[in-house]
Amino acid sequence: MTKLIIIIPCYNEEEVLPITSKLFLNKLTQLIGQGKITDDSQILFVNDGSKDRTWDIICQLAKEDKHFAGICQSRNRGHQNAVLAGLMDAVDRCDITISIDCDGQDDIHAMDSMIEAYQDGCEVVYGVRSKRDTDTFFKRFSAQSFYKLLSWMGVETVYNHADYRLLSNRVLREFSKFEEVNIFLRGMIPLVGFKSTSVYYERNERVAGESHYPLRKMLGLALDGITSLSIKPIRIIIGLGFIIAFASFLGVVWSVVTALMGNTVAGWASTVSIVCLVGGIQLLSIGVIGEYIGKIYLETKRRPRYIISERTKEYEEK
Ligand code: UDP
Ligand code: MG
Repeated sequence: MTKLIIIIPCYNEEEVLPITSKLFLNKLTQLIGQGKITDDSQILFVNDGSKDRTWDIICQLAKEDKHFAGICQSRNRGHQNAVLAGLMDAVDRCDITISIDCDGQDDIHAMDSMIEAYQDGCEVVYGVRSKRDTDTFFKRFSAQSFYKLLSWMGVETVYNHADYRLLSNRVLREFSKFEEVNIFLRGMIPLVGFKSTSVYYERNERVAGESHYPLRKMLGLALDGITSLSIKPIRIIIGLGFIIAFASFLGVVWSVVTALMGNTVAGWASTVSIVCLVGGIQLLSIGVIGEYIGKIYLETKRRPRYIISERTKEYEEK
């Protein structure tokens, strides 16, 4: 039989948790009743340094039902690190994990098909949104541009898949060897390999509260995803360098020829605009390279990726 741990990151979700925790528990007991998972399967909340009553609610839930457990991060570190903390804590505690957001946007009933796919031999099952009707036009447009940009940059991701996925313990164990601090889970999991498949579901609106992903954070995530997993931007700079060098070479030939023919080069405007263009491209290129150096700097420090400060009772350290 299969032991499941559902991993749920939570940041300032006091409005949402009382509603969705019941839905998660219903789903878990339904799966247990159907004999698909063992009775000691659990719902693990990862409190990501919330500033509201989220952790109190999690502790209360853990007291009320043995299927609930929680770990608390020592401060807010962002969604990706919260999911990672839950995943790493679950290594060797269960046969499979399913990570899902706590706001009720992801359809919990897709878990049935995920578990079936696991029983058919898949070790990674991606939850993929079949449509985005409930998203605003802006969110839909920005998210789709994000996936296209990632794939153009050579980062392998599953289109319209966020962080709703099933992982087997074998995958988790291999994944725990990926020790980088700049994490972008949906780009890293495909690198682990193993047999995988996708399960489609419709994404709902948040049951309460507001999104924690404003445009600024989305752009940050996109930039992190690209620079953590691809060096294509540096290649583009090299290509750009070649093109500009070639164009300048043609320019030099042209000015020598015109000078030999006795025509003096007219105007400074064209010269200045070329200098500005090249200056701009250089600054941009240095910025891109700087971004990579920043990443190397952060990686060399090898700081912990998450710090767990508290655990609910009965859910002790391994
Ligand atoms: N989240 C988190 N830490 C953060 C921000 C968000 O753990 O710093 C959690 C949040 O509680 C939710 C999930 O990550 O369970 C996704 O966040 P949200 O729903 O705000 O993002 P969206 O669905 O709008 O992209
Ligand atoms: Mg959400």
